[in-house]
Amino acid sequence: MTHPLPDDATTKQWYMEHVNSGLLSLLGFMGLDSAELEAEGWHVRTGDGREFIDCVAAYGSYNFGHRNPAVVSAVKQQLDRMPMSSKLLLNPVQARLAHRLAEITPGELKYSFISNSGTEAVEAAIKLARLRTGKPDIISAKNAYHGKTLGSLSSTHREHFQSPFRPLIANFGVVPFGDLEALDAAISETTAAVMLEPVQGEGGIRVPPAGYLTGVREITKKHGVLLILDEVQTGMGRTGRNFACEREGVVPDILVLAKSLGGGVMPIGATIGTEYVWELFQENPLVHTSTFGGNELACAAACAALDLLEQGGYAEQAEKNGAYFLEALKKLQADFPDVLAEVRGQGMMIGIDCVSKDICELMIASVIEEKVFIAFALNNPEVLRIEPPLHMPPEVIDVVITRLHKACESTRMILEQFSQSQG
Ligand code: PLP
Repeated sequence: MTHPLPDDATTKQWYMEHVNSGLLSLLGFMGLDSAELEAEGWHVRTGDGREFIDCVAAYGSYNFGHRNPAVVSAVKQQLDRMPMSSKLLLNPVQARLAHRLAEITPGELKYSFISNSGTEAVEAAIKLARLRTGKPDIISAKNAYHGKTLGSLSSTHREHFQSPFRPLIANFGVVPFGDLEALDAAISETTAAVMLEPVQGEGGIRVPPAGYLTGVREITKKHGVLLILDEVQTGMGRTGRNFACEREGVVPDILVLAKSLGGGVMPIGATIGTEYVWELFQENPLVHTSTFGGNELACAAACAALDLLEQGGYAEQAEKNGAYFLEALKKLQADFPDVLAEVRGQGMMIGIDCVSKDICELMIASVIEEKVFIAFALNNPEVLRIEPPLHMPPEVIDVVITRLHKACESTRMILEQFSQSQG
């Protein structure tokens, strides 16, 4: 039996009554309270007949575009063969994915724990670090975003998200992002690991100074603590390298992936570690488990995504297209300094500082009006983030820039009207 989709009005009503009425209001304010019907590449179509260019890509989950045919086909084949297994026997698709991850990730990273999301993959990293070292402390960076389950949230340093849930998990320290001296001083006898994003995503697309990751690796080695790199958002080609840590040739003890690892078709998370980190699974193989983690459908999608990453030139395209996008945005910023304060990024991970949070909100509404998806950074609502599929070509980027130009004009007009009304 197939269920027909509810129409727009019914969808809204059911969001109001059964999903999240606050979210419905927020989406309504931004002009996004329409049902999403279909998507392909960077196009998303709604029930009310609009077609958007997607420059958010589910916060970096569609590096290979929406419904990439290679990933869809791999998942369809797996669906017909065996969508999920009994969990009591060996899972060859998970074995293949773990093998592929060991091949494609840098250095000595060798073993993978497969889960269903970014935050679960971070939880596994935190637990493994504590298990391996027998120490409790995890140090992460100010404005970091590592997810919202309780362990991850304890390292997601934004009051707005943390304060309703205190007390959080103890022993989570915080240091300024990009500051090596502060990190060196913060590590103590009880530190298990330092956990960082190579480029902060939700913190507002913060690219650290060159040499920072190299310095972090040296400091963690000097103190004998583990380095966890959370590449949930920066991984899978996003920053112009397969994994952002490769830009400086830094290899962590634990690498965390999710989002685009699922090829934009299946949810998945992966926590990848060295043999040293994994040793304790030998003694206690069930110390950390997940019923659906490693399911065949998600693993088939991830294997197809890794093939695309390796053979499709996606990281190279991110580097090239990202540089083109950044240059065009810098020109836009120069034309509208009263609206946009700064533009920065790495590959196809670009942040635009608006002059204020209110201007950022006005900009989002105007950009949506122009049928481009854009969003603010969760830990820094003054920053607009641009994270499109990596292969979005210059001619589509030009269309986006024209639309952003119009949105800047509308925002400027509203600001002028407001200042006139204030006398
Ligand atoms: N880590 C980073 C760097 C992220 O950007 C995110 C999500 O945006 C997460 C972890 C959490 O991932 P998820 O939303 O899949 O739980």
